[in-house]
Amino acid sequence: MKVIKDNKIRRIGIMGGTFDPIHYGHLVTAEAARAEFDMEDIIFVPSGRPPHKHEYEVSEGEDRYLMTVLATITNLNFQVSRTELEREGPTYTVDTLIDFRKKYKDDVELYFITGADAILEIFTWKDVPNLLSSCSFVAATRPGYSREKLNGIIDTIRERYGTNIYYLNVPALAISSTDIRERVRSGRPIKYLLPEAVEDYIAKKGLYGEPMRTRLNG
Ligand code: ATP
Ligand code: MG
Repeated sequence: MKVIKDNKIRRIGIMGGTFDPIHYGHLVTAEAARAEFDMEDIIFVPSGRPPHKHEYEVSEGEDRYLMTVLATITNLNFQVSRTELEREGPTYTVDTLIDFRKKYKDDVELYFITGADAILEIFTWKDVPNLLSSCSFVAATRPGYSREKLNGIIDTIRERYGTNIYYLNVPALAISSTDIRERVRSGRPIKYLLPEAVEDYIAKKGLYGEPMRTRLNG
């Protein structure tokens, strides 16, 4: 395994999410982190399917995996991992990060990339001490979430856990999967909010409601 490239340690970004569906907010955030921190690759990790309903029924893992593959296919530095989809039982980010840590050993610096909303609720995640010491973190801005609060939580995380956590200003895209699902359900356009191949996949599989089905084959 190559350890050092041009005298630099390899850096890899991990972008976790439900990706139901993946959209340009995710892709822009991942690419901004890759460029800013000189990462070699970004690995997208679609979450496992939660055992019970929360606010809504999350789509099948296979559909979310395939949409993530379609969305990332044009970027040589983007990869998709099935690790959470193949794990038995509920999946937690801390387990995923520990698995990646073991896989890469000390050859690589790992960065977990999150949007502001995810960072703001990170203290509710499983096993916070191990989570926050398993790798470095990138906390990206997201429209609708206060920058002051984001900076505040970054400081708290640094002070409490000594985590390497970095602020990342991302070109603002007020896109969410929730909004996309609602648009499909109510027959409103989702064009330009996500890659066209993902839009086609949603139509082909009739995800999130019926109205989109008519989009394909005229
Ligand atoms: P949902 O509305 O279903 O919660 P979502 O759009 O928030 O979907 P997730 O899959 O929950 O997407 O998010 C995965 C990660 O991507 C999270 O860390 C989240 O903060 C980040 N993220 C999602 N959308 C954006 C965006 N528009 N800008 C910046 N970060 C984003
Ligand atoms: Mg979300």
